[in-house]
Amino acid sequence: MKLRSRVVEAEILDPGAGFRPARTVVEIRWDPLTGHSSRILPARGLMPPGEADLEALAEESRATCPFCPDRIESRTPKLTPAVAPEGRIRVGRAVLFPNLLPYGAHSSVSVYAPDLHLLRLGDMTPDLVADNLAAQVAWVRAVQATDPDARWASVSANHFVPSGSSLFHPHLQGLVDREPTTVQRVLSEVPAGRFAEYLDTERDLGARYVGRIGRVEWLAGFAPVGPAEIRAFVPGAASPAELDERDVRDLGRGIATVLNLYADLGYESFNLAACGVPDRPLDVRIVARSSLRPFYRSDVTSLERLHFEGAVDVSPEDLALRAGERFPTP
Ligand SMILES: [Zn+2]
Repeated sequence: MKLRSRVVEAEILDPGAGFRPARTVVEIRWDPLTGHSSRILPARGLMPPGEADLEALAEESRATCPFCPDRIESRTPKLTPAVAPEGRIRVGRAVLFPNLLPYGAHSSVSVYAPDLHLLRLGDMTPDLVADNLAAQVAWVRAVQATDPDARWASVSANHFVPSGSSLFHPHLQGLVDREPTTVQRVLSEVPAGRFAEYLDTERDLGARYVGRIGRVEWLAGFAPVGPAEIRAFVPGAASPAELDERDVRDLGRGIATVLNLYADLGYESFNLAACGVPDRPLDVRIVARSSLRPFYRSDVTSLERLHFEGAVDVSPEDLALRAGERFPTP
């Protein structure tokens, strides 16, 4: 497979250099699966590290948090008996319940642990992620057993305010519906063989390939939709419901590894989406989001929001090098 890209040059007369000509190189890349394009910019410091006092923010929101130990039993909804007779799904320290504000026919929220109101990315562990993921997998299976036509399943994360999270307490979200999201629909239109071709190509090229844990393969996105995008594919599992126990542990380890790397890079907030698409490998994408600081700049501009165009100044190849040091050698 040929990965499509094009380098363009911009020229300005630079006010900081006596108005002499200055050139900037921008590489435009096309995602080999979705066709989504992205602009790779020279490092410009678009993602400065956080300055906010996360402990202080955690304390401010703790007293009224519905996911904390004092309130989770009385303030969060329960699942119907057909889905879970106990009303909630518990795996390890994780607790899953329905979303009070559903985004579709079946919508869930799962906390990593009721007592983890503050969970920094540097403190993520394979078990915390895997147990939370396992709760989502159990929920997707239970929901689909009651509603077999709801075949579009995904697990996502909005971690801390810049990512769109409305509650401070870290959690995952699940969505199972009869209608796909836009990305699920687009991925379903990609010929099934193209996923394996993409993985083969990146494994051969090596520059963005990060590693493999079990049957989960990890790489830096060629055409990232957001900063520091890391992608995983699970060949043989088309939906979160098809992840076996081993996959869940392997994915948990990989996701925790990526989030620990984000912490080292100075990032505190991220989005994740594991998009289930029938007959396609499960596609997991993780992107960093802007750090909390007074008057911070959102990493999502008119390009991302309205042009559906990525624009990042984190080099995918540099990111892959950093990530590769933490993943097992293939
Ligand atoms: Zn809380």
